[in-house]
Amino acid sequence: MEKWQIIGALRQSGCAICRLAEEDEARHLYWFLDEEYYLASTLEDLLDGGLCNRHAWVLADSGRVYQQSAMYQWLAQETQSGLARYLVHLKAAERPWPWWAFYKKRKALAPPNPTKSCPICDTYDASAAYAAHLLVTCLGDPETLEAFRASPGICLPHFRLALKQANPRQAEVLLAEELVPLRALGANLAEYLRKTDYRYVHEPKGEERHAWRRAAALFSGERRAPAADALPWIRRVT
Ligand SMILES: [Zn+2]
Ligand SMILES: [Zn+2]
Repeated sequence: MEKWQIIGALRQSGCAICRLAEEDEARHLYWFLDEEYYLASTLEDLLDGGLCNRHAWVLADSGRVYQQSAMYQWLAQETQSGLARYLVHLKAAERPWPWWAFYKKRKALAPPNPTKSCPICDTYDASAAYAAHLLVTCLGDPETLEAFRASPGICLPHFRLALKQANPRQAEVLLAEELVPLRALGANLAEYLRKTDYRYVHEPKGEERHAWRRAAALFSGERRAPAADALPWIRRVT
């Protein structure tokens, strides 16, 4: 990721960091189906954690049947071996008395809890963290600053991510710029609520009608593409 990508994302609608992270997420999904699905390291990690619900279904909706069959066949085989081993150990374990000692022993024999997170989520998070870092470090560049000032602002989760990495001068710029969409949003929401009053209900409606949707994006990040639309390149070739 480079400065020009930050500037390009700032010039588009919505949070620039959400956009860049989602682009990297889509790229990772593409490479996952292209070659990662059969790498031993990927499979071992999936066995130790697995894909999250979103990414399992994005991949399922890709229509790449062979890749997923191969991946899940290995995972099913390894998982059933692990569980079968656990069952054998459990049956072999004597039931000691008192009863709580049995539960303690059973707990000690249980397969360990997963330690790995979803690899595609990891890419999304790492990409967002890097984009936030790049934005902060490029704030001294006039072109980036201008694009940032003209942008609709970044969502609050990514604003906090950027703020954590900023020095006091950069933090000042970030805070001043984040206040702009927040104030506009607050005013729009207040205007919407005012017009719900019977005394003003006849007044023409304006952009305040959509303020609640902008609030969702600002407070929780841009709406992520639904699973079926998250892999446009893949869907074209199947
Ligand atoms: Zn964002
Ligand atoms: Zn995920």
